Amino acid sequence: MKLLITGGAGFIGSNFVRYIRQTHPEDVIVNVDALTYAGNLSNLSDIDEGEHYTFFKADITDVAAIDDIVADGFDVIVNFAAESHVDRSILEPGAFVRTNVMGTQVLLDAARRHGVQRFVQISTDEVYGTLGPDDVPFTETTPLRPNSPYSASKAGADLLVRAYHETYGMHVNITRCSNNYGPYQFPEKLIPLMITNALEDKPLPVYGDGLQIRDWLHVWDHCAGIDLVIRHGRSGEVYNIGGSNERTNLDVVRTILRYLGKPETLIRHVEDRPGHDRRYAIDATKIRSELGWQPKYAFEDGIRETIEWYLTHRQWWEEVRTGAYREYYTKLYGAR
Ligand code: NAD
Repeated sequence: MKLLITGGAGFIGSNFVRYIRQTHPEDVIVNVDALTYAGNLSNLSDIDEGEHYTFFKADITDVAAIDDIVADGFDVIVNFAAESHVDRSILEPGAFVRTNVMGTQVLLDAARRHGVQRFVQISTDEVYGTLGPDDVPFTETTPLRPNSPYSASKAGADLLVRAYHETYGMHVNITRCSNNYGPYQFPEKLIPLMITNALEDKPLPVYGDGLQIRDWLHVWDHCAGIDLVIRHGRSGEVYNIGGSNERTNLDVVRTILRYLGKPETLIRHVEDRPGHDRRYAIDATKIRSELGWQPKYAFEDGIRETIEWYLTHRQWWEEVRTGAYREYYTKLYGAR
């Protein structure tokens, strides 16, 4: 199979490149990434360029550049490229509409023009909005009710993907996953932020009461789910992918501190994020029963392995926590 992967220098995309290289070494991967603050080629330093893997620096909103690349012919486009951080979308929504909505449309059009057989959109459970404590988890038919500029832009992209199936008969799939964790995650996201701050004995900023619930999914399990959808997903279908690991943010932070032997006095409650969704939970029955997907990671094992990864890759995260990251961090949480 010949795959065009966008956003493959980011957290999930780079893990996915690695997953395909390991599980389908005969596949050919072309990775297109604009290398924004979140894209980092050192995430792929163990992947050699050659016959089976090539990298192009390009922006998915650049019609001419994308057209040139897609013209080469692909079996599938897997769109990971996105502005992905909710806090940044509150500060600067325009970039999210540009990349997440317009970039998806540019890719869909290029796929149509060049007869790419399949299009897989990597989306998020955040498009469904928020759940109350007693609500049943999101299914693929839960109405879309996004609450942040990030999730609204992802929902917009999902609707475009759906429309290209209905209007042009394109073979499309949308995957909606819960919060991912694992190696190579940029340390603005909850788990790596807390691990790296704790390792530097810095305060751990926890939004509001910290009782927001997320349903954690190890990135490798996510990659396995996407791979099944690419190869066996039914055209036009949405597949939820979730690990059934609901935890409050505070629980997650305490687990990290316990593992690192750091005191809970490092926790600092900060003003809650505006429009902060209270709970996400995914019902992944469809991908389990239709495609035989099974997550391998229990959260306790996955988080331990992830903490160990950050412990042994200090240079990686120290390099990304400099310059622009510092400025952004100060804007959000103040001087420390
Ligand atoms: P990330 O921010 O780590 O990576 C995004 C990548 O996209 C980066 O490499 C960046 O350089 C690239 N990119 C951004 N704008 C681009 C543009 N205009 N053109 C080309 N490349 C561009 O994100 P991630 O956490 O790896 O998320 C990947 C996808 O999965 C996103 O679509 C996101 O919405 C979705 N998702 C992520 C999570 C999660 O927990 N991380 C959960 C659900 C869904």
